[in-house]
Amino acid sequence: MNVYVILPAAGIGTRMAAGSTPSAPKQFLAIHGVPILVHSLRAFAAVPRVTSISVAVRKNEIERVQAQVAEYGLTKKVNVVEGGDTRQDSVSHALGALRCDDDDLVLVHDAVRPLIDPATIDRTIDAVLKHGAAIVGLPAVDTIKQVERTADGAIITSTIPRERIVQAQTPQGFRCALLKRAFAEAEADQFQGTDEASLAERAGMQVAVVPGSPRNFKITQPGDLELAEFYIAHSKAQQ
Ligand code: C5P
Repeated sequence: MNVYVILPAAGIGTRMAAGSTPSAPKQFLAIHGVPILVHSLRAFAAVPRVTSISVAVRKNEIERVQAQVAEYGLTKKVNVVEGGDTRQDSVSHALGALRCDDDDLVLVHDAVRPLIDPATIDRTIDAVLKHGAAIVGLPAVDTIKQVERTADGAIITSTIPRERIVQAQTPQGFRCALLKRAFAEAEADQFQGTDEASLAERAGMQVAVVPGSPRNFKITQPGDLELAEFYIAHSKAQQ
């Protein structure tokens, strides 16, 4: 049985831009001199059960990323493929290029979550082996409100009991046949989701949740980079 990993890394990073200044796509920004994408790749490459990793990037980034993969000694496990216009398209391209058996596992991880750790990846693999589909999720600590958007903000319509809420993180893992079926059904219905679990849920699959950590956050906006730098420096100090 093989465990394949897909890292969508074809985003253009519009939310990272300060004011009107365009920024580099966030997956290529450096933390302690190492690109965010490489931090993420290293975590998966360090898991012995991972067979190979496909990184989906923009066409014009393929050569640059191949060079980075070589520079950081990751060529044995990592290959670079072309991404698409949405996260779902990027994962779909990479999945289409995978020759996996039905029972093989496929894990999808946002390239911009560089603080994922090998132990959480291992726990996700174990949960997929047990349940067929599993994602990392963070229990909600804040009180969660449902709102209706208004011109100048939002109005609360209800309070959702927080014990019933988890925030979806990645990795999100599936038996290969299940993930391919979920993607095929979404494509047939022209459904666009923001994660793989939403595609699996609408295909009627049960998806288990593995406890996540606030450290495994998605680098999204200015300030997130400094937080990731802090966490990484802190974990190095502990080693
Ligand atoms: O923008 P978002 O937060 O959804 O990005 C999550 C991940 O999906 C990032 O690693 C980003 O590079 C990736 N992505 C992609 N292809 C796109 C858009 C986002 O691979 N077209």
